[in-house]
Amino acid sequence: MENTIAAIATPLGVGAIAIIRVSGIDAISIVNKIFKGKDLNKVESHTINYGHIIENDKIIDEVLVSVMKAPKTYTKEDIVEINTHGGIATTNKVLELLLKNGCVPAEPGEFTKRSFLNGRIDLEEAEGIMNLIEAKTETALNLSINQLSGKVSKKIKNLRDDISKIIANIEVNIDYPEYEDIEKMTYDMLIPKIKEIKDKINKILEDSKSGKIITEGIKTSIIGRPNVGKSSILNAMLEEDKAIVTDIEGTTRDIVEGKINIGGFILNMIDTAGIRKTEDIVEKIGVNKSLKLIENSDLILYVLNNNEELKQEDLELIQKLKNKNHIIIINKVDLENKLDTSLLNSEYIIKMSIKENKGLEELKQMIKDIFNLEKIELSDMTYVTSARSIAILKQIKESINDIETSIKNNLPIDIIEIDIKNIWDKLGEIIGVSYENELIDVLFSQFCLGK
Ligand code: GDP
Repeated sequence: MENTIAAIATPLGVGAIAIIRVSGIDAISIVNKIFKGKDLNKVESHTINYGHIIENDKIIDEVLVSVMKAPKTYTKEDIVEINTHGGIATTNKVLELLLKNGCVPAEPGEFTKRSFLNGRIDLEEAEGIMNLIEAKTETALNLSINQLSGKVSKKIKNLRDDISKIIANIEVNIDYPEYEDIEKMTYDMLIPKIKEIKDKINKILEDSKSGKIITEGIKTSIIGRPNVGKSSILNAMLEEDKAIVTDIEGTTRDIVEGKINIGGFILNMIDTAGIRKTEDIVEKIGVNKSLKLIENSDLILYVLNNNEELKQEDLELIQKLKNKNHIIIINKVDLENKLDTSLLNSEYIIKMSIKENKGLEELKQMIKDIFNLEKIELSDMTYVTSARSIAILKQIKESINDIETSIKNNLPIDIIEIDIKNIWDKLGEIIGVSYENELIDVLFSQFCLGK
């Protein structure tokens, strides 16, 4: 990397100190130009140096400057961190001086990107750092720490190692037929191996759903006809958790968003209850829009009034919930029952009375059960969470299906090998490595060829 980058690393505002971070080949010499104190070009690595930032002999701030020389740094480049006394004006001034003297402003995430490009961390770990910065709950924080420590990468690496052994075996059979003591890869050997890889990929993909829940929360919509008690239910849930309700900008309280914390997991409520009471919600937003909401949510809470008969539109919408995570809430059970529950045909039904404070705990428990939240909490938190990695894993799944078809059709193993290599490459993409040389290494190390 030729550029030396600089950025304010702490949140901008009035604080006790602010840190400006500089990374790159000229980091030390550029900071030295605006620093009065020891000659930074001559100080030892990993030292903190007292002095002043100056502009034309005028003191801008009294500072502590950390000098960390490559390669034992975050980016594997020379890094200098300037600790100023905070304050927006001073911090900006120091950054401005750095830019004047040859630094370029860092793009968001560029320090981490350099860390990856310079080989200190892999892509999964880089994404872990990004998640750490954005972690909203403690569970999400734990997940990102695991990602950071390379647990996810390790899972992928292990899988990749398994595959490289298969490839190496096939290649040895083809390229070195004279090594007769090496077993020939046959369909019978290949089929269980491919099945095992498929199961592992499926497991990672299945687990990634939990990862998504941890980092992004459960997108929840609460729908039903007016006056069934949607707002009351939402408020009751919010009140218990003292969550914040925010109006979505640009709407006049039509849709309200709330975040509810259920055992460390965030329920992102999209509440159509705010839609004006005098109008019929299903009519106003239309069955089509309700369907869209149903489609785009991770969880639907469909609210009915125990004191009213079911309407055709309710039945139509409930029909659509079948293949979605949903809970049908029959509210107002304190009133006379007029609703025929036998028509509902769902195992996820909660009877509730907000008036008598009944059913809320059951509702929360059912949500936990549907998403297996208690199990997620207890497991080891090694989930692939980035959309990029998940997309690649889905491609891999398709490649595996292709391989299975090829085997069924008796295609030659060296043709099938192309697809196997493709999977190995794609796994490499997830963690950001993909070198043919690696394969050669396995080939030689596993079978000691050419010794
Ligand atoms: P929404 O239009 O679906 O959001 O319904 P609201 O939450 O505004 O409730 C409509 C009316 O039903 C209000 O007067 C509530 O006080 C009342 N309500 C809500 N839940 C219950 C309940 O469990 N029992 C009874 N009897 N009334 C309820």
